[in-house]
Amino acid sequence: MTTSTTTPLLPRQRNPIGAHVPVAGRGLAGTGLAYATKVGAETVQVFVANPRGWATPAGSPAHDEAFRAACAEQGIPSFVHAPYLINFGSDSPATRERSAESLRHSLHRAHAIGARGAVVHTGAALCGSRADALAQVRADVLPLLDELDALGPDAPRLLLEPTAGQGSSLCSRMEDLAAYADALDHHPLLGVCLDTCHAFAAGHDLAAPGGVTAMLDALTEAVGPDRLHLIHANDSKDVAGARKDRHENIGAGHIGADPFRELLAHPATAGVPLVIETPDGRHLPDRIEGARHTADITLLKHLRTEALTRPTDTPLNAAT
Ligand SMILES: [Zn+2]
Repeated sequence: MTTSTTTPLLPRQRNPIGAHVPVAGRGLAGTGLAYATKVGAETVQVFVANPRGWATPAGSPAHDEAFRAACAEQGIPSFVHAPYLINFGSDSPATRERSAESLRHSLHRAHAIGARGAVVHTGAALCGSRADALAQVRADVLPLLDELDALGPDAPRLLLEPTAGQGSSLCSRMEDLAAYADALDHHPLLGVCLDTCHAFAAGHDLAAPGGVTAMLDALTEAVGPDRLHLIHANDSKDVAGARKDRHENIGAGHIGADPFRELLAHPATAGVPLVIETPDGRHLPDRIEGARHTADITLLKHLRTEALTRPTDTPLNAAT
């Protein structure tokens, strides 16, 4: 399939491009969507709890509704990122219990604010073998997916995000997702959030010619088509295969800008939003709030335009 044989999509329909936005202060809409406007974001990701803690704050119905209504009115798809401590492969029963409560909270808050999905890191096997850990994933997560089913047609999806491949990581390479999805019976509300920095760290060399296509093909092979629902678009401060999770601004790291054009031209990414989780330069003395994020989003939009005007079967790295 090439873009020349299908109805042309508006760039924003093909891939909304946005950012993980801060919400502290005036809340989801007051802070989060104001920041989105400032940096030109067409889609947003938010935390609904301290990402480094176990608290499960109730949120404010008025703020939730203001955010949901504003996103709907402006056509902004939204996503929740669950806390980082969640690990269903833990050897501690208390951590597993907290992980389930924390993820349940993120999923229900996602539903309350009208988000399309909640992203969770796939965790690490600390309890024994990989098979032991996946058995725990099944026992703890399948009931949550069934709870989502009961929410009806606007239920958010659970989006699995492979990690950079440190330690006993359960999913880092795309192939690893196959066993994880098997453990969850390929539930209809299960999806994938692909982080380009994590995939690069895990050894998918996105900077090599055809590297992005090989990674996306491996993803489709692992979980089937139509499971990719969100992309974390991040460059990397480290080289491919370094197993380090250090995000860089788009085009400023070892991935570089061109692979993002290849990503935006691939059929597997049609309709999938991209959010950046890149440095905002807040520690720099000359920082202008949002300037780095604005630059990243502007560059990705430019690459999106270029991707849409080239046939998808042209090897994009060949000419560079
Ligand atoms: Zn990410």
